[in-house]
Amino acid sequence: MAFTEDSVQLLKDNGYKITGPRIAVLNVLSKAHTPLSAYDIEGQIPENIPTNVVTVYRVLDIFEKLGIAHRIHTKEGFVRCDFELRHGCHFFAVCDQCGRTHEFLHDDPCLLKKIIPKNLPFKNLKHITEISGICQSCSLSVNIK
Ligand SMILES: [Zn+2]
Ligand SMILES: [Zn+2]
Ligand SMILES: [Zn+2]
Repeated sequence: MAFTEDSVQLLKDNGYKITGPRIAVLNVLSKAHTPLSAYDIEGQIPENIPTNVVTVYRVLDIFEKLGIAHRIHTKEGFVRCDFELRHGCHFFAVCDQCGRTHEFLHDDPCLLKKIIPKNLPFKNLKHITEISGICQSCSLSVNIK
C-alpha cells in the first residue's frame, strides 16, 4: 500500500523527522476502515513503541496539517486521506450505522468558491465536507434480515 510510503515522503519533504510514533500512527491509519480517535490509535500501537495519547494527538495535528489524515467531525475520529493529491476539496460519505467512510474529490474549481464572500477575513481556506447515509454493505445486510 502506497499510503505509508507517500506519507513518509511528504513528512520528509516538509522537514519532519520520521519517528517511531509517526510511523506507528501511519500504520494504524493505513489499516483502519472507520474513523479512529487518538485513544483508539494509541491502543493499536505495538507495546514496543513508546507513545501516549498526547504524542498521538501531536502526530495527528501534523498529519491533518499536511493532508495525510482528515478529521471526521461526525464520528470524532481521524481517517487517512485516500488521495495522493493532498490539496483540493475532500468529501466524505459517512455511514450512520457502521461509521465506514468513503472519500471522494470533486473537480476544480471549488463548488464553495461561489458562496464564500470575497471579503471574508480568512485566508488559506480549506474544507472537508461530510455527508451521511447508509453504506452499501449496511443496506445489504438490512435487506437480508
Ligand atoms: Zn483526502
Ligand atoms: Zn455501513
Ligand atoms: Zn470545494
